[in-house]
This record gives sequence, C-alpha cells and structure tokens, in this order.
Amino acid sequence: MSQIKIEVSCPSCRKSLMNSAVQIDDFPSIEISAKISGKAGQLYLSQIYGSYQKKFVGVEDIKDTVVDCSCPQCHKPFPIHKVCDCNAPVTTLNLDIGGRISFCTRNGCQYHSVEFENLDDAYLLFKKQNPSYYA
Ligand SMILES: [Zn+2]
Ligand SMILES: [Zn+2]
Repeated sequence: MSQIKIEVSCPSCRKSLMNSAVQIDDFPSIEISAKISGKAGQLYLSQIYGSYQKKFVGVEDIKDTVVDCSCPQCHKPFPIHKVCDCNAPVTTLNLDIGGRISFCTRNGCQYHSVEFENLDDAYLLFKKQNPSYYA
C-alpha cells in the first residue's frame, strides 16, 4: 500500500503544525487546538494521507461531535470553505509543498480531500515517498 505523508502549516500564521513529540502511525503528528462542547484541548492527526488515526488530549473523544479547530500557535480558527454532506464545517490547512488539505470537523466523518497547486510537485512528492510504486 502506498503511504503519502502530508506536512501542513497554519493558513493564518504559516507556522508548521507538525509535532514530533506526539507520534501517530510512527510519524510526527499534526497538532490542532480542539474545542468540543466548550472544553479546550488538543487533537493530533496522522500525517499519513488516508489514515484516520488520531488522539485527543484534554477533551473527550466523542463520536459524531463537531470539533472546533484552531491553530495551536496563533489561535486563529482554521478557515471553513464548505459544508460536508454530514452538515459539519469542512476546514482547510496548507500543505507545505503547496496546495491544501480539507477535512470534515465531525469526529468520525471520513470526508477529506487534497488539492495541489502544482501537479508536478504532487507527482515528485509521491514518487519520492513511494519509489517502488512508480518503478
Ligand atoms: Zn496559526
Ligand atoms: Zn462530514
């Protein structure tokens, strides 16, 4: 199976959201400030594209609740570009190689998508990370 790793940064302050202190799927996680029913904590996501491994700290992992996502560095809420089929907001983060990743903020909803600004960048990234896939 091919594994695409995505490294993301905040669309507002452009600081990296990667956290090497918390590992998910054996890689540094994506750290997000999460608010669930008025409580604040952290949400750590896998940087493997298509992996739904995640970890909540300080907030309960309640299935089907909508997570209020913001930047752990500048505390600005992440931008919302659309609404998911499940009626929760879909939030967007910047990809370090150019482009963006969107994911649904409902805990348990698997909607996500990735868009690259430059398809050559995407191809080079995939090729670098999955040499056997393209051999
Ligand atoms: Zn920020
Ligand atoms: Zn959804």
